Amino acid sequence: MTENKTPGAGWNFDNSYARLPGFFHSMQSPAPVRAPELVVLNEPLAASLGLDAEALKSGEGVAELAGNRVPEGAEPLAQAYAGHQFGYFTMLGDGRALLLGEQIAPGGERFDIQLKGSGRTPYSRGGDGRAAVGPMLREYVISEAMNALGIPTTRSLAVIATGQGIQREKELPGAVLTRVAASHLRVGTFQYAANFGTEEDLRTLADYALERHFPEIGGEGNRYLSLLREVIRRQAALIAKWQLVGFIHGVMNTDNMAISGETIDYGPCAFMDVYDPATVFSSIDRQGRYAYGRQPYIGAWNLARLAEALLPLLDADQDRAVKLAEGELEAFGQQFQRNWLAGMRAKLGLFGEEEQDEPLVAALLDLMQRNRADYTNTFRALTLDQPEDNGLFASEEFAEWRKRWEERRGRGQESEEASRRLMRESNPAVIPRNHRVEEALEAASEREDFSVMHRLLAALADPYAYSPEQEEYAALPEACDVPYRTFCGT
Ligand code: AMP
Ligand code: MG
Repeated sequence: MTENKTPGAGWNFDNSYARLPGFFHSMQSPAPVRAPELVVLNEPLAASLGLDAEALKSGEGVAELAGNRVPEGAEPLAQAYAGHQFGYFTMLGDGRALLLGEQIAPGGERFDIQLKGSGRTPYSRGGDGRAAVGPMLREYVISEAMNALGIPTTRSLAVIATGQGIQREKELPGAVLTRVAASHLRVGTFQYAANFGTEEDLRTLADYALERHFPEIGGEGNRYLSLLREVIRRQAALIAKWQLVGFIHGVMNTDNMAISGETIDYGPCAFMDVYDPATVFSSIDRQGRYAYGRQPYIGAWNLARLAEALLPLLDADQDRAVKLAEGELEAFGQQFQRNWLAGMRAKLGLFGEEEQDEPLVAALLDLMQRNRADYTNTFRALTLDQPEDNGLFASEEFAEWRKRWEERRGRGQESEEASRRLMRESNPAVIPRNHRVEEALEAASEREDFSVMHRLLAALADPYAYSPEQEEYAALPEACDVPYRTFCGT
């Protein structure tokens, strides 16, 4: 034997995005880091992608996940996109991320493999192209929790500590996250093509999105209108799921809305504790634009920006194009409401549909809000039939509500057991509570103690298990005067 080469990790790239015209990207190599160390590897995800976990943990694998070595077949590039940030349109693009390529999984599915925090690109503007350990672990934990909750999302394959400090308010340890996504096509990618490209560029992008995400839409009829319709349908389903678990994205700019219907870009996101539609965690969202209760409206607003970008493809006559787009956009509200109400019925163990279901749900939410009840734990307590020792469960109004609810449940054909099972499947016993996430990130980034995060990840891996180990993660934080704040772009 003359060589001692470790077998590769199983990369199997086919880079369709790189084959799009140069207008859509800039080829860019990752910037090497000093002393890469693997912090966390998602072994089940690696296996599903056809990647060998042992090889990824080896020196060669870690070098690849750190951006110190380009895997065979990868063609690193920064994607170009634009977007409305807090309502203002601007040119963006991957400023600190690189698409390595598309991994074809053993089942034939195609996934973007992206390094986040891998150095500057032509779209970095004033930024350093880097990311810190804390926020990258935050994305890892929350995206994996979302996936376990059954919510479409980008996934996290690994986090590497770079061994280099990055300058923020104070110096922080640097990191590179490997993100896995159905694609990184965004509403903002279409806005980029519509605003800075030719109609031909726009058509190329739309055809690409259709082929990649909606192959069932054939050549018949108005395929670009079908594209818009399907993106709207997926967002109506996605945002309903967010609302049902109390997830607040935090920065629903149009560049952070994926065409695939996956949740993308975990910056200042967080889960709501006390039920209140006005809940905002992001330190930069001073107006509450992206508050919990506003997410469906912002979703509709963003989709209107997508429709606008697609107008030239919908019809040669602009007035007709606008009419067509409006027809599709109108459906969003109803679709969202239908998905949300169906989810709420499941959370309350209700089968079938009755007129009075919506007011019944509204009455509970109103009671939760007035009693400052925890959203997740209220549904958890109803599921376990273990009333909590708090103002909500003690109130007479709640007792009356409960009677209405029980009558409604009793009217169904299904057994009480079936109803309870439905509730268990629909109400998580555990969510990534802000104080537990913070505690895990602090241990990791300040003491290099990753055990807290691994325990948290284990508790979040099956949120509907109702296991004894999960119980401590359902506990609320000690009362605290300082509201929880999340930060963007860190
Ligand atoms: P985000 O708020 O994460 O959606 O990012 C908005 C834009 O800022 C995107 O174009 C990012 O690539 C860019 N960006 C965020 N952080 C950095 C950074 N540290 N260096 C360069 N660009 C960045
Ligand atoms: Mg973004």
